[in-house]
Amino acid sequence: MREGIHPEYHQATVTCNCGNTFTTGSTNESIHVEICSKCHPFYTGQQKANQARGRVDKFNKKYGIQDK
Ligand SMILES: [Zn+2]
Repeated sequence: MREGIHPEYHQATVTCNCGNTFTTGSTNESIHVEICSKCHPFYTGQQKANQARGRVDKFNKKYGIQDK
């Protein structure tokens, strides 16, 4: 992180949808994000994938489709 090279570059408070806040360098004073490192797509994506898999399993069971 190079600091002090950009006049308008300062610490911004980032607020995430999950309630997590952290600071980062930005030209904005405050930023609102939907995703942060605490609720990274990698993790939420896994949860969604598991949920989707559960639905698929139900579907397969309902229609007698065997899933390995
Ligand atoms: Zn978050």
